[in-house]
Amino acid sequence: MTTLDRVGALSVNGFDGSSSAGLSAHTRELVDRRRRVLGPAYHLMYETPLELVRGEGVYVYDADGTRYLDMYNNVASVGHCHPRVVEAVTGQMSLINTHTRYLHEAVIGYAEDLVGTFPDGLCTAMFTCTGSEANDLALRIARHATGRQGIIVTESAYHGGTVDVAACSPSMGPASVSDAAWVRTVSAPDSYRVDGDLGTWFAEKVQEQIDDLVCSGVGFAALMVDSIFASDGILPEPTPFVKPAADVVHAAGGLLIADEVQPGFGRLGASMWGFERHGLQPDIVTMGKPMGNGMPIAGLVMQGSLAELFGRDLRYFNTFGGNPVTIAAAQAVLDVIRDDGLVANSASMGTRMLAGLREAADRVDSVGDIRGAGLFVGVEFIGPAGEPDPAEALRVVNAMKERGVLISATGSYGNTLKIRPPLTIEAADVDLFLEQFARVVD
Ligand code: PMP
Repeated sequence: MTTLDRVGALSVNGFDGSSSAGLSAHTRELVDRRRRVLGPAYHLMYETPLELVRGEGVYVYDADGTRYLDMYNNVASVGHCHPRVVEAVTGQMSLINTHTRYLHEAVIGYAEDLVGTFPDGLCTAMFTCTGSEANDLALRIARHATGRQGIIVTESAYHGGTVDVAACSPSMGPASVSDAAWVRTVSAPDSYRVDGDLGTWFAEKVQEQIDDLVCSGVGFAALMVDSIFASDGILPEPTPFVKPAADVVHAAGGLLIADEVQPGFGRLGASMWGFERHGLQPDIVTMGKPMGNGMPIAGLVMQGSLAELFGRDLRYFNTFGGNPVTIAAAQAVLDVIRDDGLVANSASMGTRMLAGLREAADRVDSVGDIRGAGLFVGVEFIGPAGEPDPAEALRVVNAMKERGVLISATGSYGNTLKIRPPLTIEAADVDLFLEQFARVVD
């Protein structure tokens, strides 16, 4: 891989199924059966795939009973099998599960509670099952409101898997975006690689693409950004670097869609939503993953006027989106985040983790940068000339797994560790992670 080679359609930390080396007979059999019946598009993680059968808090257990510290799973954000979520889901499931075409107190109550966590103006919620559907609906709403088609995303963005949203996900490889004349990409605002004022730099890149969309006749509808730029390599600082780009977007009559599927629900420590760190007022916010702690619930919160306009001309129905069982899970998640002070815990445990990582990295040359916000942390590996070193990142990911700690890798070059434990993590678990990290990189 040369300095500028980017990750293609293959997963950064994907299992290479071409060899059975190191696999038990049982794992090999499952891998082969899975490949036969599920096909090649699904990828497994790690050099030797994991078969997880149970989880509790920040720990997961494989079929042999081996325990792993889960430093990766931002879906089970209030911890695996949190008793309040389990109780809420099973309680509602044993009463009734319907859909949004009936009145249901809990669905309305949750929507009210959720919009109450947003700044004024972001006051209407809609529910889906997946982050992809939420982003897809966000595109429809933005296009309907502006009457234009063009969407701008970052160069290694991931926004989901529907036809339109996959076209907005260059991290899935060139085949994902190649046919879409309405997508434009901008370089990621990477403070490790870009000198000077990052906000101005990013706004200029966005403006260039707006101009291009206008010139080509497609027109500009929206900029869609993940507020932590997770698949671009985890880019948290220096805030508020997205703000000038947001201003450029609004000046051009476009909308700002903040994809909070990764950073939302308190993960970044400073606040409930990642865009707040950038002092932004998005027009549409999408969310998913941690929203139901594993139950399939996702959604959007948007400016009331956008929802009015869309609902005036179009209808929306999602059979499973926002059903009472997944809403019960989502309400329990929101309650736990607030009752257990998890946003503050994310901030303090994140600070502890960054300090420990920096101490360990001081002793080695292979770590180029350590960055994070709350419990979303990236560690970037470089070679002797400062070039991205994805092989070292992958070695560390797999060595950590062998030591009972789960993480993965991300970024345009696949050389950045992605560390996102449940928000409930405690100091002893952070220290266990740091101890193993220090051994693996030393
Ligand atoms: N947006 C972002 C930033 C994501 O990371 C993901 C999932 N990785 C999605 C959207 C899509 O969510 P889902 O897999 O629930 O469709």
